[in-house]
Amino acid sequence: MSAPAAPDKRSHFTSPDRPSWELYSQCIHCGLCLNHCPTYRVLGTEMDSPRGRIYQVLLADEGRLAIGDAFVTHIDRCLGCRACETACPSGVHYGRILERARTEIERNYRRPWLSRKLRRHFYTRLLRSNGKLSRAARLLRWYQQSGLQALARASGVLKLLGLADLEALAPMIDHDFFFSEFGMMFPALGERRGRVALLAGCIASVAFSDLNRATIHVLCQNGIEVHVPKGQRCCGALQAHGGYLEEARYNARRNLDVFLAGDYDAIVTNAAGCGATLKEYPDLLADDPDCAAKARDFAARTKDVTEYLGDLGLRPPRFKLGKKVSYQDPCHLAHGQKIRSAPRELLQAAGADLVEMRHPDWCCGSAGTYNVVQPELASQILSVKMDEIAETRAEIIATANVGCMLQLRAGIAQRKLPMEVKHVIELLDKVY
Ligand code: SF4
Ligand code: SF4
Repeated sequence: MSAPAAPDKRSHFTSPDRPSWELYSQCIHCGLCLNHCPTYRVLGTEMDSPRGRIYQVLLADEGRLAIGDAFVTHIDRCLGCRACETACPSGVHYGRILERARTEIERNYRRPWLSRKLRRHFYTRLLRSNGKLSRAARLLRWYQQSGLQALARASGVLKLLGLADLEALAPMIDHDFFFSEFGMMFPALGERRGRVALLAGCIASVAFSDLNRATIHVLCQNGIEVHVPKGQRCCGALQAHGGYLEEARYNARRNLDVFLAGDYDAIVTNAAGCGATLKEYPDLLADDPDCAAKARDFAARTKDVTEYLGDLGLRPPRFKLGKKVSYQDPCHLAHGQKIRSAPRELLQAAGADLVEMRHPDWCCGSAGTYNVVQPELASQILSVKMDEIAETRAEIIATANVGCMLQLRAGIAQRKLPMEVKHVIELLDKVY
């Protein structure tokens, strides 16, 4: 990370994470990113484009634009999908500018009371502690399974409160949380070809436990010894994207200690959003002299599970999938980590009949908590995606990120399409 811009008395930015001049100056205002931006495609306004957002952040940093409602609205509307980075010929690190701008918003802008309280609770408490997250998830499970959810939906009270769409997006909470597998080791099947540590993920450990179990199964079937290190935490992605960079750093430091304590060939994740952040720990911790070198070591060992298995080469599967599958690129895999071919090659190796949608790397509108905090825009972006998905006539939509799975499942349910949404790993699990 380069040094922050020289202190400027007029700047509205006050945090040590203020974007550097080097970050701003890479933008040459060419506009090539505009049509790659989902919010620009839907809204058609410069202020909701990557170029427009960079300019607004610069103006606020120079003290020429207040951190007020208009500025916050345009920055909040950004999905953080980073499609603009892929399109940019000048190598602008838009994601870094965005995270730093959002940190300034959280410091210098007063959100409405409820939003402020909920954000603080989610980012600074739930994502910081697996215990607190477990307790909140148990409460949600009780709501889902006690009959209260069915009652709330049937009574129309959710619609009355404007909460129906938001409530429908909440993941079904697992009966057995994956936290119970923390500290365990799963031996390789046959000759050992590697030894990895699995980052289980926070939400994934309470709502996608079986996906983590399938990941372990597929890795073991391929000769990999899998460890689930105890004491690991949320990767910090949601906090970094939400403007809570210090909270993200807190979790990152703990993960460095936990994962670097073991001698692993790789640190593996099945969530594209987590992987992108883990690989960016060196930037997140660049100014921490105790952690900078460790963060570089950590990032160099981090692999998305599809990337790891693609490099390793699959053992021949026992069955053939034999289904028509279309693959949706998660933004943080395609744009954040530049991984596109490995998931497709794995699907073909599993015997999938792969059919491409028109724009597989266009965002589905999930983007971490985006579909919760920007439901209308997320739904418009999803609608474009669902038109393209419907055209494929695939039986299965495969992806590699739990947030995308939830969003695509919601879209398929709304359209009543005869399709399922699966993680690439779940499909590999079927053929072993
Ligand atoms: S991150 Fe995505 S939504 Fe945000 S400006 Fe870039 S392309 Fe647009
Ligand atoms: S972000 Fe990149 S593509 Fe977009 S206007 Fe700036 S230089 Fe051009």
